[in-house]
Amino acid sequence: MDFLIATHNNKKKNELQRILAPLGVSVFTADEKNINLREVEETGETFEENAMLKAVSGCEDSGMPCVADDSGLCVDALDGTPGIYSARFGGEHGNDEKNNEKLLDLLKDVPEEKRTARFVSCVCCVFPDGRQLTVRGTVEGVIGYEQKGSNGFGYDPLFVVGERTFAERSDEEKDELSHRGNALRKLVNQLPRYLDADLNDFILKHGKKRYGIMYFGFEDTLELLALCQKTNTEILGVDAFKLSDGDLIQPFSEHSFDFSSDSYNYTWIIDFVSSKKDLGLVFEVVMN
Ligand code: IMP
Repeated sequence: MDFLIATHNNKKKNELQRILAPLGVSVFTADEKNINLREVEETGETFEENAMLKAVSGCEDSGMPCVADDSGLCVDALDGTPGIYSARFGGEHGNDEKNNEKLLDLLKDVPEEKRTARFVSCVCCVFPDGRQLTVRGTVEGVIGYEQKGSNGFGYDPLFVVGERTFAERSDEEKDELSHRGNALRKLVNQLPRYLDADLNDFILKHGKKRYGIMYFGFEDTLELLALCQKTNTEILGVDAFKLSDGDLIQPFSEHSFDFSSDSYNYTWIIDFVSSKKDLGLVFEVVMN
């Protein structure tokens, strides 16, 4: 499957490609696909919102599944700033030197134990059928008193984890520890259930969107539940309804139930659905 990445940064593209290759995913930039992406204004108030704005827009412009990320540094002594404004903290977008100088200046009287901070990375993946997957990765550290090291970019020379700054670490070491590495590892864990061919075929065969509420008869409900179980797909609820007056669906309230994701297991749901087999019910399945 081909994915678009909403960035012109080839380093980010290659990192994502490396990590998604084992899932059979090829990653392309808009330039490589000859697609014109609209400029997206990052008007969100959180990393998640900004990553989603970029991914939704990229998916709409390309018709392809699209991945976008948003990241930054949150410093506790500065009430979590610069946060989503990390790139332009010093007044000029992407000027790392000014950003670092401003940070050092604001923290000049702050003692070591209060210089705690974290990098945050949110990665959002949006599919043409509307499904969205967002993951967040973080790494905790402290802000040093002077810039150290020459590797990396941005606030790396000031961000100390253990004894060294990120700029004093190799790319591999940083990947192991970093917010982006952590977010991408979560993405790789969760993506397979979005890509499963059998589950996609099943949904397509029934003309459904692969998220939200769906109605099925007994046999199809069992098939769907088995596929969800196989792919670790989260089921948010199952409810039973009966048909009346043609296609009007009424809640079969006596046996209705709903549950949150941590209070069920698949065996239990399948037993429930099976025990209603002969009542001619329609099952509402809510999946994530
Ligand atoms: P973006 O989400 O890639 O645009 O990153 C926003 C800003 O956050 C960057 O310009 C950097 O200032 C900062 N930033 C994000 N990730 C890192 C990192 O891994 N190291 C250093 N700075 C980072």
